[in-house]
Order: sequence, then structure tokens, then C-alpha cells
Amino acid sequence: MRAFVLTGHGDLSRLALADVPAPEVRGPLDVRIALRAAALNHLDLWTVRGLPGLSLRFPHILGGDGAGVVESVGSDVTRVKPGDAVLFNPGLSCYRCEYCHAGEHSLCVEYRLLGEHVAGTLAEYIVIPEPNVFPIPTPPAPHPPITFPEAAAFSLVTLTAWRMVMTRARVKPGDTVLVWGVGGGVASTALRVAKLAGAFVIATSSNAAKLARARELGADVTLDHTAVDVAREVRSLTGKRGADVVIEHVGEATWEQSLRALGRGGRVVTCGGTTGPMLMVDVRRLFWYQWDILGSTMGNAEEYRAVVRLLGQGKLRPLVDSVVPLADARQAFERLAAGDQMGKVVVEI
Ligand SMILES: [Zn+2]
Repeated sequence: MRAFVLTGHGDLSRLALADVPAPEVRGPLDVRIALRAAALNHLDLWTVRGLPGLSLRFPHILGGDGAGVVESVGSDVTRVKPGDAVLFNPGLSCYRCEYCHAGEHSLCVEYRLLGEHVAGTLAEYIVIPEPNVFPIPTPPAPHPPITFPEAAAFSLVTLTAWRMVMTRARVKPGDTVLVWGVGGGVASTALRVAKLAGAFVIATSSNAAKLARARELGADVTLDHTAVDVAREVRSLTGKRGADVVIEHVGEATWEQSLRALGRGGRVVTCGGTTGPMLMVDVRRLFWYQWDILGSTMGNAEEYRAVVRLLGQGKLRPLVDSVVPLADARQAFERLAAGDQMGKVVVEI
């Protein structure tokens, strides 16, 4: 089958279109999917560069997100059948360890992500375990049907944002939520989830067009974080009270301001640190203000069901920035690396 692969760690020059063996249905719960679209995430760029502790066999198929049509299924598969249009949770769990038994699948001791630890979605076929696979829902009129590029753009960022906002930070109506760097997929989705939860949302970006888009998505206030002191603005917007929740993914460049913006009993939740991983906290402020500092990664099966259900209600519809054919997948990586996108960069297969 045709696939877009990484031939070795390095830069985007290590990407290539290749002919590789197609995966087959082997286990009773395997679902073989003919992929119609794949979506890129920043994780794909990290995988290209190489991550500590990650050893891949090359050529390695990139891509975490995807959607397609079920082509064949293992003997015990009952929830989907050949011909069904499906999307899937890109996090693979063992469903046997103590964390899986407790329903915390993204804490699984064997947790792996498509495209990072195992072959990904930039290919004509993929095999996914049935518990991860869901029919693409059809939202009620007047919403148009979900397209394959939209379905491919949905899973990773929506699942990640949902767990951060709802499960970890426990955002509730009336909370003030600060979302950094709202141009990114997780951040723009976190903004929408926080609005669904009834929060007052302050969103930041360095880009005027992205701030305008954030207002369209429901942001109550937008701040250009290159022009203003974000923490001071949040304090002033909340009558010195500070934010209840800060959604972090930036790391060293924003952390100090995130904590200065955080009010009493505040929660800061992070899913990454693109500007650097080492963060400082003054323990006196941590205990006196009784902050929660929360990590979050992907989500569990119940959370994935919840976001797919919302998609079926016409909510949290993914934002697609651009769609290119598989043969031009390198352009999609270049666009993602440049950071100019507004929504997901999608590859059609
Ligand atoms: Zn497990």
C-alpha cells in the first residue's frame, strides 16, 4: 500500500512517499480500515525530530488521526461492520492493566499513540482494535454531514481538550478560564469545551486573525500575548480575583504568567511544553492559594464516547485548515511546522 513515511529521525527531508506492506486483520477484535483522510498534530513533528525513549523501526508511517471505511473485521467484532464510515481514538491501551480496569486508558502501562509508537494513519490501510473505533455520527439538520477530513481532524485534539477542561480542571459554569495560544488545535478546542461548560473564557494569541477566530468560537476576551501582560490583564478583568483555570501547553515561555494569573483555589492544567519543559513554582504560593497543578494526556474510553456523542449533536465540529492529497503530504507538514494554520491540516487518501 502507499504510505507517507519517516525514513529516519531528523527534519522534514526525511519524509517520503513509500510502498509498504498493508496491515492485516490478525486478532478477533481487529478492524481493518481503508483510510480516506488523516490529520496531522504537533506530535507528528516531534516524532520526526525524535523523542527521548522512543525507538522506531524505519520506514515509520506517521499520522495519529484518521477516518475511513471499515474494510474487514475480526471474528469477535460486533460494533462496526464492513462498509461503515468510522473514526477512532488514536490512543491504544492494553485493556488489561490496573489503570485500564479502572477506566483510565490513557494511564495504561502499555499506552501507545498511532503514528508515534506504532504505524500511523498516513497510509491506505490501518488496523485498529474495536474498542477504539466508532461510526462517524450524523448530526441533526440543519448541520451538514461530517466529512472524512472533518472526522479525521476530530479525535486527538478534542479528546485531549475534553479531558483537560472537564475531567482534570473540572471547569464549571461561571469559572474564568485562560487559554494560551488559541491558534493550536488543542487550545482552540479547549476554548470551545470551556464555553460549552459555561465558563468565561480569555484567549491569547500573537496573531490578530487567530484572535478574531477565537471570538467567533466564543472567546469572551482575547489578548495579544506579545503586546500585553496577560497575567495583569486577567487580574484586571476579574476584579483582581484571578482565573479559576489556566489551560497550558506552552511551557517555559508562559508558565510564570500562568501562575500569576491564577486565583485562589485555581487549577492549571497542561498537556505539553512546546517552549521548554522545566517549570518552577513557589511552594508557598502553591499551598497558600491551594492550587492544583494538573497534567493531562489524551483521554479514556468514556471521554472519547462523550466527545463523539457531542459531535453527533452538532457540537465541537472540527475546524479544517487545509486538505492536500497523500502525494503532497510533505506540504501539510511544512504548513504545520510554519504554524500558519487555523484548524487542522488534513491529508486526503
Ligand atoms: Zn492497560
